[in-house]
Amino acid sequence: MPASSLIVLPFVALVGFALGGLVELAALRVPSREPILAPPTCLACGATRPRWAWFLPGRCRSCGALPGTQLVLQLLTAGSLLLAWLRFPTAPLDAFRVSLFALFLWLIARIDWAHHLIYLVTVAPGLLLALLLALVESPRTLLLALTGMVGATALFAAFYGLGWLLYRRAALGSGDILLAALIGAMIGATRLLPTLLIGMLGAAFAALWLLARRRAGRMTYVPYGSFLAAGTVVGLLLWGPA
Ligand SMILES: [Zn+2]
Repeated sequence: MPASSLIVLPFVALVGFALGGLVELAALRVPSREPILAPPTCLACGATRPRWAWFLPGRCRSCGALPGTQLVLQLLTAGSLLLAWLRFPTAPLDAFRVSLFALFLWLIARIDWAHHLIYLVTVAPGLLLALLLALVESPRTLLLALTGMVGATALFAAFYGLGWLLYRRAALGSGDILLAALIGAMIGATRLLPTLLIGMLGAAFAALWLLARRRAGRMTYVPYGSFLAAGTVVGLLLWGPA
């Protein structure tokens, strides 16, 4: 890696950390439908926090609580962007795509973790950008992204149908099909299956861990979408975008 790339790394981490604050903002405001520009509030006591607290999570002045989820999210986005630029130092477009995709995926993971829901308004812009940036790369890349999108959608629609046949209820939500389309468009057809497998294995281990600690029954909800999204960040960092 050239020395000039090393110089930008602290800057990339800082930008990633700041953008993580905006991801937290969107993750809180999309489900609650609060005005996007309203100042942040403490999740523990409801006290208003200064606006810069979106970027620098400090202790609440009223109750002393630390915004833990925001801090974790900001560290995840900072780490993802840092690794993306370390992994693709000579391919700025790849590094940019992985960074941007990671932000969307962490947003979806954060919302699914808290609400067990995947919103179209978080998936659609990511899908559009994934296809647009694939076209910027090359027509062949766009084809890989499109086949990945269609393949993943078909696969998850089949899972969905199978769930109905076996259990007479949806084993996964329709939001998971949306997310699968997004993942397919981001990672492309060739790396789709191993990428999905990372997320599925993560979810399976989490479910086993919960069962082992006797904190779960057969129907306890594991935020499947969160694991698929996080697994896709790992897949993107391993193999790059479509
Ligand atoms: Zn507080």
